[in-house]
Amino acid sequence: MKNLFFTPGPTHLYPTVPQHYYTALKEDILSISHRSTVFQSIFNQTTYNLRMLLEIPDNYHIFFLSSATEIMERIIQNSVENTSFHFINGAFSQLFSQISRNLKKEVLTHEVDSKECFLFDRVKIPFTTELIAFTQNETSIGYAINPQDIYNIHKKYPDVLIAVDIVSAAPYIHLDYSQIDYAFFSVQKGFGLPAGLGVLILSPRALTKSEYLLNKGISIGSYHTFPKLQSYASKNQTPETPNVLGIYLLGKVTDDMLSRGRDTLRSETDEKASALYSFFENHPNYTPYISCKNVRSQTVVVIECKHGSQTIIDNLKHHKIILGSGYKSYRTRHIRIANFPAHTIQEVQRLISLF
Ligand SMILES: *Cc1c(COP(=O)(O)O)cnc(C)c1O
Repeated sequence: MKNLFFTPGPTHLYPTVPQHYYTALKEDILSISHRSTVFQSIFNQTTYNLRMLLEIPDNYHIFFLSSATEIMERIIQNSVENTSFHFINGAFSQLFSQISRNLKKEVLTHEVDSKECFLFDRVKIPFTTELIAFTQNETSIGYAINPQDIYNIHKKYPDVLIAVDIVSAAPYIHLDYSQIDYAFFSVQKGFGLPAGLGVLILSPRALTKSEYLLNKGISIGSYHTFPKLQSYASKNQTPETPNVLGIYLLGKVTDDMLSRGRDTLRSETDEKASALYSFFENHPNYTPYISCKNVRSQTVVVIECKHGSQTIIDNLKHHKIILGSGYKSYRTRHIRIANFPAHTIQEVQRLISLF
């Protein structure tokens, strides 16, 4: 029997991935030129499916890069001349702000203690801010920001670009793209695919900002600038030789997800999340780490373990179930359970029954 991975990324493969791998080999996908019409039609199909599944407006662009971390760097390079502002609720939002700092930008932050919730009304964002960054689903602690709070910030600061990290929330999360400028994810989490591909969705005005910086003579990078990515994407191509297999597999898996139906994916995620949270809320040795219920992540369930996480992680390993440990400083205190489309209701029930 193979292992069942509840780790929050890389995670369990979406069940149809092996068959698509086999087809890719059979159809020479691993050898075709990235300038061929076969590649162009793969690119076109994958972006079309993403638009359908995530409900992305037609005038928003979709780019393929190598990881979510790369995308954070590219967003800063292509949209910030001087100042970015970051809402910090864990390690990944911290990483985004650190990337901006490393690129020598002025970095402003508003941080919440992991035991509290953001009080967005009280936050003052200076008028010099060019970009506001959110980590919608903080994978490190299982904290999810309500999209409505992001839209309210957009209404208050309509001229500022808004970036939203949805790495561990996609394809579950439903966003109103007209109220944000960037959303991005990598595929080894909610899409159940091998790592090595990042996807960036961006608004027309975000592209305009990068063109403005370029024309002003500011460095916005080299091969992965947004104007360059856009000129290739308009031909269903990428500037460099991309992860062709990754783009192909993402097209196939999004096909399968569309056949299952996006509403079904979302309602099943909610059902599994509610089974997990209600079980751990009533367990004497385990407690959901996030106490404010309205910011608990549906897709990454983080549980504090009274007697440490190692014993249960080891026990479940004997049953071929791989749990995520806590993130960094929480390693021995927390377990993290991914609740992605690859995880079935039966598998989640089996996991619960082993506690
Ligand atoms: C995993 C993760 C990242 C980093 O993704 P990579 O593909 O490893 O670059 C960024 N943000 C969040 C919220 C994540 O969960």
